[in-house]
Amino acid sequence: MEQKLKAIINELYKKSISQCSDRELYLALLEFTKKEMQGKKRITGKKKVYYISAEFLIGKLMANNLINLKLYDKVDQVLKKNGKSLADVCEAEPEPSLGNGGLGRLAACFLDSMATLGIPGDGIGLNYHFGLFKQEFKDHKQTAQKNDWIESRSWLNDTGVEFTVAFGKTKVKSRLYDIDVIGYDNGVNKLHLFDLESVDESIVKKGIDFNKKKIKQNLTLFLYPDDSDEAGNLLRIYQQYFMVSSGAQMILKDVKEKGIDLHELDKHVAIQINDTHPTMVIPELIRLLTENEGFTFKEAVDVVSRTCAYTNHTILAEALEKWPLSYLEKVVPQLVPIIKELDRLIVRKYRDERVWIIDNDDRVHMAHIDIHFGYSINGVAALHTEILKASELKHFYDIYPKKFNNKTNGITFRRWLFSCNHELTDYLSGLIGEGFMKDADELKKLLKYKNNKKVCDEIAAIKHLKKEELAAYIKEREGITIDTDSIFDIQIKRMHEYKRQQMNALYIIHKYLEIKKGKKPVRPMTFIFGAKAAPAYIIAQDIIHLILVLSEIINNDPEVSPYLKVIMVENYNVSYAERLIPACDISEQISLASKEASGTGNMKFMLNGAVTLGTMDGANVEICDLVGKDNIYVFGKDSDTVIKHYEKADYVSKDYYKKSKVIKEAVDFIVSKEVLKIGDKVNLKRLYNELLNKDWFMTLLDLEEYIKVKDRAFADYEDQAAWRKKMLVNIAKAGFFSSDRTIAEYDKDIWKTNN
Ligand SMILES: *Cc1c(COP(=O)(O)O)cnc(C)c1O
Repeated sequence: MEQKLKAIINELYKKSISQCSDRELYLALLEFTKKEMQGKKRITGKKKVYYISAEFLIGKLMANNLINLKLYDKVDQVLKKNGKSLADVCEAEPEPSLGNGGLGRLAACFLDSMATLGIPGDGIGLNYHFGLFKQEFKDHKQTAQKNDWIESRSWLNDTGVEFTVAFGKTKVKSRLYDIDVIGYDNGVNKLHLFDLESVDESIVKKGIDFNKKKIKQNLTLFLYPDDSDEAGNLLRIYQQYFMVSSGAQMILKDVKEKGIDLHELDKHVAIQINDTHPTMVIPELIRLLTENEGFTFKEAVDVVSRTCAYTNHTILAEALEKWPLSYLEKVVPQLVPIIKELDRLIVRKYRDERVWIIDNDDRVHMAHIDIHFGYSINGVAALHTEILKASELKHFYDIYPKKFNNKTNGITFRRWLFSCNHELTDYLSGLIGEGFMKDADELKKLLKYKNNKKVCDEIAAIKHLKKEELAAYIKEREGITIDTDSIFDIQIKRMHEYKRQQMNALYIIHKYLEIKKGKKPVRPMTFIFGAKAAPAYIIAQDIIHLILVLSEIINNDPEVSPYLKVIMVENYNVSYAERLIPACDISEQISLASKEASGTGNMKFMLNGAVTLGTMDGANVEICDLVGKDNIYVFGKDSDTVIKHYEKADYVSKDYYKKSKVIKEAVDFIVSKEVLKIGDKVNLKRLYNELLNKDWFMTLLDLEEYIKVKDRAFADYEDQAAWRKKMLVNIAKAGFFSSDRTIAEYDKDIWKTNN
């Protein structure tokens, strides 16, 4: 290995390792690693999975690829010998932002697990040049910049394969780029990313502004371009169709090259539709089979319905896509007759308008296409699937009870333990053997050390080390000093009202006011946030503004700052998550019950020994079942209560505000003189009014109990022996949340690649 790497470096730079910069070493290692992956076997089998997704939040790949190749330690040693650090070299890799949050990260974890389990399974997505925007803070507000990540040398391999995609009479060319996905100690699958051949980066002028109508230039520039006007909506449909048409053509080409009869497609292919964005793959496949392959409409519908499966990720109504038929007519006129015919099939069969594909306002419900013309519908956590069956998709569950199933999300331990926390990984291997690295369930072996003080203390020492590393990084990146003996309380996830960062902010205000009144906490507290807000989501911008203003006030108040620090890290992404999660003491998972389908951040924190403070929502419910009430802090109204409030429309936030002095004080502070001195009145007043007069996600409903339970968690932290035991139990029980388990279930129940 050493010789191969040195040969590459010599050829590239005519230098020795010690003379190279980290950046040069990164490029050399890139070449080395790609070659190593090319030498691995391509995973094959009778049946293959295609996981189609608008997002693949893959993060930096170098460290993970080396871990999966089982070369990380060897490369690390070679670099060390020459005065270099592999961790520093890995920093030189640009981070792609091909995803927005949990849904995209899940897709990336699934690719890793499919390859690790040896399941033939490729990803299909788009090669966004600027991905999701890069966040920068200015005047305590978020600004959006483009995030370019594609370099002349990268993980992308140009396959030279091209397809033509037609939007009515307009034709464009798509070009296929592949990224190798190496399994842990196994072969390779591929992530197929399609790019617009005629894409033109130069049409982006300032920030992330560009002409949304120039489809032949803009199609693969950004993930989730602004959709606050018609042009933006049309662009999203263009993107979706470009992805699924390219993907469908590639799948049929693959199958035909294997000499398979397309009537048997379902025996050789499973297409997993990740949320509704790739739904048009269903009518597109029907179109290709009928127009080009001599299928009757019925034959095509039958085989496609046995091939496609759908994952639902949300019950938020605004996220279930409904495209106006007129938009589809403008962008993909060739699909419209097919969608109308699919709708007719349903209307003939079912009287209930709620299950029709096209509603009375001529809007096409994309999820309904997936449910009727796919063979499996899965939710992503036990509670979420139950809510789908009992309320959100009840009318469909009544028709197709057998199609519904649950697949509780998971995370790849290669990234979220081995790679981001070497110290803990090594420690655990020494203690319980390396078995857990292939079989996550073996983490349970840790439980027998639950009452072993030495083990608990050693795990706590690793936590402290990770807190010191994070503190140094935050000092460098954000310019803020934090006390590593303080409690690190972390909430990192997309900014959204249902996730209730605003509730956490109100707790911080409450603490600030207490300290001002002389009630000082026994131990300093550090609150860390990381979140991007969709640029068009006004209230989310206001919440970011509030947190940044609080940070400014609190961190600079000499009376308060020794006890309280607030940090909102800039441009939260996968790499930042990898530094934050191992350093966390308290994991904030405080969504309004029923709203967070699963969450996966919660699992990453648990695995790294943080204790969850959360509502009975998403996978928190399963975490609670696993660790038991003593090892998690639960608060808030349950999902049944919340759903009833929505049904009866009887939640009035002002009642809670009036009833509680603590709530009133905290909410009023948002528009206090102190805050308005630094902050923007427009944003803060708007947020204040929203909380008082609407509060759609019921912040004030749970605020008092949140304060109480959070205070209890902080107090409990002082009993370090008991706390360390909680940490250990959380790590030991995290095995269930390995995405290897999730993917094994998908395969057993849905894909059946082994049949
Ligand atoms: C895991 C992850 C998420 C999802 O976090 P949730 O708390 O489950 O919403 C979002 N963004 C990044 C970068 C992640 O790694």
